[in-house]
Amino acid sequence: MGLIKDILYKTSNKQMLGVVKNQSIFPYYHLVNNKDVTHIKHLYQFKNIEKFKQDLDTLLKYYKPLDPSLFTNTRTKIIIPKNHFLLTFDDGLSEIYNIIFPILKQKGINAVFFINPDFIDNNESLYKHDLSIIIESLKTSHYKKNTIDKIVKILGIETNTSLPQLTTTIKQIKQSQNNIIEDIADLLNIDLYQYIETHKPYLSKSQIQEMIHSGFYFGGHTMSHPRLLELSIEKQKKEVIDSIKWLKTNFNIDYSFFAFPFSDKGISKALINEIFKYDESAVIFGNSGIKKDVNNRIIQRFSLENPNKHTEKQIVTENLYKYYNKAIGKYKIKRN
Ligand SMILES: [Zn+2]
Repeated sequence: MGLIKDILYKTSNKQMLGVVKNQSIFPYYHLVNNKDVTHIKHLYQFKNIEKFKQDLDTLLKYYKPLDPSLFTNTRTKIIIPKNHFLLTFDDGLSEIYNIIFPILKQKGINAVFFINPDFIDNNESLYKHDLSIIIESLKTSHYKKNTIDKIVKILGIETNTSLPQLTTTIKQIKQSQNNIIEDIADLLNIDLYQYIETHKPYLSKSQIQEMIHSGFYFGGHTMSHPRLLELSIEKQKKEVIDSIKWLKTNFNIDYSFFAFPFSDKGISKALINEIFKYDESAVIFGNSGIKKDVNNRIIQRFSLENPNKHTEKQIVTENLYKYYNKAIGKYKIKRN
């Protein structure tokens, strides 16, 4: 959270939710788990089952669940009814099937899940998850100075780097530097393939099929979760559209849902035009908070994943931030 949001959070109180609840909201998460998850641990924090269930009760107390079928009506203008919420989950982690799916069914809440086809069935992993596994190993195993020196050399940073500095540098490794990730894993004796094989961090096709049968919705999240802005527009288009097509081919679905990986900040009008050229009734999800985008088929979301934040206060904060953005002329997203 930025400085302004921090101030708004401190001044907000949960009674204000009754005042701002007319604004429909689109919270997102990645996973829910009571246990530590090594491939996520060093990337972001998440809620346990009890806190997630409390979130759902809070949402149901103040809002009505929005049925994603609202978005599958092709060609009609999307009109989002007031005072609704729709949950979305990014990255297709296995907790979605094992933990979240049963809870949502029990509560009668629908949701949209955004997945990366490259990782479905656990043949490959998201590079950020590999980085978290590497950092965990660095923090918990005792490696010889000689090994650490070799890693420092690979990363091209100063010798005698402290562990926190080393992990910060590792977190900044880019997807295109895959060879570096493999070299470091080798040096640390980490078998990333064995990790995926053992832990199965991602959904399988049959799990997705079962969830679709139960009435849940799926959307693309690119094939391999790259930072889109590091790719050419042609490659961006391929990553995005292939992920939507993959769902259609494998599960016979007829709608096109998509959520940007990492962030929608800086995403060009050209890419958005390409998506609507592919399917004019596509629905695209960003994560810029409560904002208005260049097309009314782009829905903006905010995260409710942080377990240290009070949910009601957080929703109020996002609404107050909307008014702040309106006041400074940043409510409408501009795209080049
Ligand atoms: Zn993601």
